[in-house]
Amino acid sequence: MTWVASDPTSSAPGAPPPVLEVQDLIKNFPIRAGLFKQKVGDVQAVSGITFAVRRGETLGLVGESGCGKSTTGRCILRLIEPTSGSVHFNGVDVLGASRSDVRTMRGKMQIVFQDPYASLNPRMTVQAIIAEPMRVHGTWHDAGLERVKELMATVGLNPEHVNRFPHEFSGGQRQRIGIARALALDPDLVVLDEPVSALDVSIQAGVVNLLEDLQERLQLAYVFIAHDLSVVRHICDNVAVMYLGKIVEIGDVHDVYERPGHPYTQALLSAVPVPDPRKERERKRIVLEGDVPSPANPPSGCRFRTRCWKAEEICAQEEPALVDRGQGHPVACHFAEEMTAV
Ligand code: ADP
Ligand code: MG
Repeated sequence: MTWVASDPTSSAPGAPPPVLEVQDLIKNFPIRAGLFKQKVGDVQAVSGITFAVRRGETLGLVGESGCGKSTTGRCILRLIEPTSGSVHFNGVDVLGASRSDVRTMRGKMQIVFQDPYASLNPRMTVQAIIAEPMRVHGTWHDAGLERVKELMATVGLNPEHVNRFPHEFSGGQRQRIGIARALALDPDLVVLDEPVSALDVSIQAGVVNLLEDLQERLQLAYVFIAHDLSVVRHICDNVAVMYLGKIVEIGDVHDVYERPGHPYTQALLSAVPVPDPRKERERKRIVLEGDVPSPANPPSGCRFRTRCWKAEEICAQEEPALVDRGQGHPVACHFAEEMTAV
C-alpha cells in the first residue's frame, strides 16, 4: 500500500506518479566476525518502510539517532544497495535500473548532508564545488560560470565570492553552498539529511526558509530528515515517525501533531516547546526510559515495547500493523488512542 495523504486519487488512471514511491524497503547490514569474516548476524537498519512524496511536497522522516533515517535516504538514491523492496522515482524503478541509468537519475535526485564542514571538499573553490555535478553529468559548458553565479544568488550567497574556499564561509553559508550544488541539475527530489542540525539555532530558520522558498519556486519534492519534531513542523506536509527501522506513525503533519496516536510520537512531541506560555506551563513531558535497543537484535513484537508505558503481553507477541486506528492516519500500536493536544 502506498500512503499518500494529500491526494486520495493518487492512483487514478492518468494521474502523474508521485516523484518518489518507496515500498517495503529493507536494509540489513551484515555483521561479520572471526578470522574468515563469517556473517554472524544483521544490523536491521531499515525494516520494511513504505511512503510516497509528490511534486512540491515535503515528507518529514523523524526519529532518534540510529533509527534508520540516513540509511533510508541513501537507499533512495542508491548510494547503498537496499536488501529488498522497491524505490520508484517519477515512476521509474530505481533499484532495477542499470548503474548508468542510476547515474543519470541522480542528477534529478540529490542529497544534502547534515555537516556542511565534512561534505564540502576544502580544497575546491565554491565554483568548482557547485559546478561538479554539471561536469559529472556533462552539462558544463561556456555558460557554466553564469549558472554557478545564478545558483549562488538563488541560495542567498554573493556571486562575487565564487572563487573562495569553503573555510571562508560560515556554517550557514556552507550549507547554502551544499544546497546550490544540489540544485545545479534542476532536481525533482532533494533528500535533506538533517540539513540544519549542525547549525546554530539562530541561523537554522534562515536555511529552513530558503528551503521552503526554493520548494515553492521550483516545485521540488523533499524528504526532510530530522531527529526531532520541532524543525519539521513548519516545512512538512506529511510526517513519518521512525523507530528502530520501522515507521510507527505516518500522516498529515497537522493531524499527527494534533492527534499523535503512537506513544513514541507522543513522547517526541512532548519535548517540543509550545509558543503559548500558558500551554507551555501545562505541557506534560514524557521522558523515555532506557536506551534504544540494538538494531542487531530488536525486541519481538512491537519494537518500541521495551520503552513503552502502555506495553502489555500482546506487544511482545504480535507486531502491530501500521493502520488507521481512529486517528485519521496510520499508527502501529495495539493501544493507540487519541491524545488531547497539549
Ligand atoms: P539515523 O540516520 O536515523 O541516525 P542510520 O540510518 O545512520 O540512522 O543508522 C541506522 C542503523 O544502521 C544504526 O544502528 C547504524 O549503526 C547502522 N548502520 C548505518 N550504516 C551502517 C553501515 N555502513 N554498516 C553497519 N551498520 C550501519
Ligand atoms: Mg542520520
